[in-house]
Amino acid sequence: MAKVAINLSTGSIQQEEVIVGIDLGTTNSLVAYIHPEDKKPIAINDQGRGTIVPSVVHFTQTGETIVGTEAKDYLTTDPAKTIYSVKRLLGKSYKDVGEHKDYFGYKIIDDDSEGLVKIRVGDKFYSPIELSAEILKELRERAEHSLKTPVNRAVITVPAYFNDSQRQATRDAGKLAGLEVLRIVNEPTAAALAYGIGIDQNEEKTVAVYDLGGGTFDISILSIHQGIFEVLSTNGNTYLGGDDFDRAIINHWIQENQLIADTVNEDKNLQQELRLRAEEAKKTLSSQPAYTGTINGTIDCHIERHTFETLIAPTVARTIESCRMAMADAKLQPEQIDAVIMVGGSTRVPMVYEAVSEFFGKPANNTLNPDEVVSLGAAIQADILAGNRKDILLLDVTPLTLGIETMGGLMDSIIPRNSKIPTKAGRQYTTSIDGQVNMKISVYQGERDLVQENRKLAEFDLKGIPAMPAGFPKVDVNFILNADGILKVEAIELRSGVRQEVEVKPQYGLTDEQVEQMLMDSITHARDDVNTRMVIEARTTAEQMLYQVERFVEKNGQHLTAEEIELTRTNLQNLKDALPSGDKNTILKAVDILEEQTSPFAERVMQISIKQAMAGKKIE
Ligand code: ADP
Ligand code: MG
Repeated sequence: MAKVAINLSTGSIQQEEVIVGIDLGTTNSLVAYIHPEDKKPIAINDQGRGTIVPSVVHFTQTGETIVGTEAKDYLTTDPAKTIYSVKRLLGKSYKDVGEHKDYFGYKIIDDDSEGLVKIRVGDKFYSPIELSAEILKELRERAEHSLKTPVNRAVITVPAYFNDSQRQATRDAGKLAGLEVLRIVNEPTAAALAYGIGIDQNEEKTVAVYDLGGGTFDISILSIHQGIFEVLSTNGNTYLGGDDFDRAIINHWIQENQLIADTVNEDKNLQQELRLRAEEAKKTLSSQPAYTGTINGTIDCHIERHTFETLIAPTVARTIESCRMAMADAKLQPEQIDAVIMVGGSTRVPMVYEAVSEFFGKPANNTLNPDEVVSLGAAIQADILAGNRKDILLLDVTPLTLGIETMGGLMDSIIPRNSKIPTKAGRQYTTSIDGQVNMKISVYQGERDLVQENRKLAEFDLKGIPAMPAGFPKVDVNFILNADGILKVEAIELRSGVRQEVEVKPQYGLTDEQVEQMLMDSITHARDDVNTRMVIEARTTAEQMLYQVERFVEKNGQHLTAEEIELTRTNLQNLKDALPSGDKNTILKAVDILEEQTSPFAERVMQISIKQAMAGKKIE
């Protein structure tokens, strides 16, 4: 059913609602849509202000919020009330970002280091979600103003390495900005779509997306087949980008010019001026061999392209090193890459373009505007979701295993790492104690055998299980990982139908390095982990055995002889003594002895109860 929207400015009724595509960037954000006539994606340029909206939020003295280029002007003059790079904080805890806190010119609150980080502006506290929502609201307003129609739905892009928490935070920011977020899409996927890769379902392609923005660098290797986009590997550096190029130019001018060197530390205005001129110089050098300008209208500054290239060469080399690592992780050789796509304003630097083309052994694609390409792809995805194109599936893989805690603190994996998403998997569990009415479900992410070494995502109680003997209830635990990488966990007791579910909104996010560390740790500790797991499993078996036998003797003691009871007690005690040994063989041996000795009891009691039951009935 088509939605009907009323255009308030013209009073006319519009048949179709636009779904926009949004690139919510660290430095710059853009909104794009599919033009209804030529069906091509275009970035929205409202009132000729340009397509690029700097991702900067400024709070004025009078309590107003401004976003974009006007807000950027306050970066030097009112840094405490001017928030930039908020994307770096999305879905993160203070613990995650604390070491970089000097990077930010505003105040990041260190209250509860595992909770989501907060930012203080004057006497108000903001979450990165609220601040990102301000940027999204601005984009939404510009789109509504320019298209003259309400905009309520959007597709938003995120870096491929964003984890559940960061994706959820992006979604929440959209919601706060009044947008229904139809899909969170990976930036490299959007870039590939913008180049038309993946539109044809029969096409098979391996693509490298090189994204060098203002302060971040990402390389992603994608495999595209049957309309499925699979991220084979990602690499990069979340503190490397065009800002480093600007800084290199500033430092060069400081070294060259005594006047600048003498005053730059005290003079805020000069710092801002230097930053603006350096960026201008850098951009000029992308198309000219030299730049000449003046700082504050008085000091001459000059730089040539070859000098600039000498300054940035080490930084560019580091990005190529990341490409090498991403290729190694994807187990691919440069010849196996069908297309290299350039994304991000900084890929306009000719040296960057050449280095990337050289590494991959083919000219990189840069025919689309590298600032806009992600938003254009997001608009195409929005169009697909609107049902205007044949359905294209987007597929990613989960970086870490998802599972739940079972007896003894063991990790029971439900969705293994590298599973393609969306995906659904489940397993059946039961109770370990007679009459147990609650079951705790603890959800973890990680590769280690012990949950305590992994990361807890959520915990809830399945309540109201009808009292039954241990082992009777059947509890299905299902993990549903949607296309955005957000996990829903549901638990259902099948006999009674009691049901409980959670959507996992992890307490705090993981950095790329942490994911890597978790994977590394799982390899280094593999042998220890296997041993520990075996000991725990032995102990769990022993505890269940102790519980069962003790209950049995309590209930059915009258059917056992005094010697049998005595021997059972001795064997029970031996098993209890074996538990603290921490040696799986000792424990399992004691379990065996107890089991062998007591197993005939159950049969005997069964026979007796059958006889009694029969005796009570008359069989004709
Ligand atoms: P992000 O994705 O991190 O939000 P962008 O892709 O918008 O960032 O890239 C912004 C960066 O691109 C800035 O450092 C900006 O100076 C740089 N940039 C923009 N145009 C050019 C150009 N013509 N030459 C070199 N760098 C450029
Ligand atoms: Mg970007």
